[in-house]
Amino acid sequence: MTERILVTGGAGFIGSHYVRTLLGAESPEDTVPDVRVTVLDKLTYAGNLTNLAPVCAHPDFSFVQGDICDPDLVGRLSAEHDQVVHFAAESHVDRSIDASAEFIRTNVTGTHTLLDAAHRAGIKTFLHVSTDEVYGSTERGSWPETDPLRPNSPYSASKAASDLIALSYHRTHGLDVRVTRCSNNYGHHHYPEKIIPLFITNLLDGRKVPLYGDGGNVRDWLHIDDHVRALELARTRGRAGEVYNIGGGTELSNRELTRLLLAVCGATWDESVEYVTDRKGHDRRYSVDWTKIREELGYTPRKDFATGLAETVRWYRDNRAWWEPLVSELRRPAQLRR
Ligand code: NAD
Repeated sequence: MTERILVTGGAGFIGSHYVRTLLGAESPEDTVPDVRVTVLDKLTYAGNLTNLAPVCAHPDFSFVQGDICDPDLVGRLSAEHDQVVHFAAESHVDRSIDASAEFIRTNVTGTHTLLDAAHRAGIKTFLHVSTDEVYGSTERGSWPETDPLRPNSPYSASKAASDLIALSYHRTHGLDVRVTRCSNNYGHHHYPEKIIPLFITNLLDGRKVPLYGDGGNVRDWLHIDDHVRALELARTRGRAGEVYNIGGGTELSNRELTRLLLAVCGATWDESVEYVTDRKGHDRRYSVDWTKIREELGYTPRKDFATGLAETVRWYRDNRAWWEPLVSELRRPAQLRR
């Protein structure tokens, strides 16, 4: 039976990769038969229709520009779909430090609006895509799904709120909600404000890369292909009301990551790195324990980090037309930006 899937935020980095994968525009072996996909996306600064160009003529694809906070629109769309895969969010921590209102509106109110519409429409499965950042920061060990949420930034606090509201719709209304919490994604089509694409595009332009604080903050890196496979496992084989952590298996400090990027791009530390004032409240280390998704759903990351990073750099080298307009906007003084 064909599943009609509503994908929110499907013009962004991860959502568009998910949609391209389902509809056969990424790796052919990951194509999913018997799905019809509608992307609902507001096309904020992070949304880009070019990301969906490879599937825009696909007979099982449609696009709706709109806001997840619009109850009439999401009510109408929910009634026409079987499942929701929810990516739409304000996603950049630094922006949430400068101005958090939009994070609360989209991530909290928007998620609630969608859940309520899904419940009323009798949606079969609601996959809520969240983040490891909801657990806070830890010096050692890894968080299992049962750990308490201790988010520190306005971004992660808004995501934690949305996770709890999502799970409440399962407990209260019996809606089949599944929550995933993944580590830092990397890959192609990543908006160039995040560390990996920011550093790559700077290095390709012969510019310095800004390293926060002492560069000792640690993140676990997850290739976008692996994340999308894990999401499909959670959507198709996960259990209602469950949370699944998704890790990549490559923990690196920002200093170590920078060294790897410099090597791939052929640049040197002394010429290309400048230390900048640390991010306010910068979480020191994230680390998810992803035993549950491995044992229950058979997930393991496949992409080796060195290969994934080299492919990502190559993609940015070969696709300047995609990122140059975004980068030139980001490099304008803040008060002149759109
Ligand atoms: P992104 O910023 O690249 O894309 C977000 C998309 O949501 C954009 O297309 C944007 O236009 C859309 N959007 C924003 N507000 C909207 C609204 N009100 N209504 C409809 N659409 C709206 O984000 P991403 O990196 O692709 O992340 C997707 C999801 O994964 C987010 O929920 C994020 O919290 C989560 N996540 C991301 C990472 C990562 O490393 N990128 C890690 C963990 C979790």
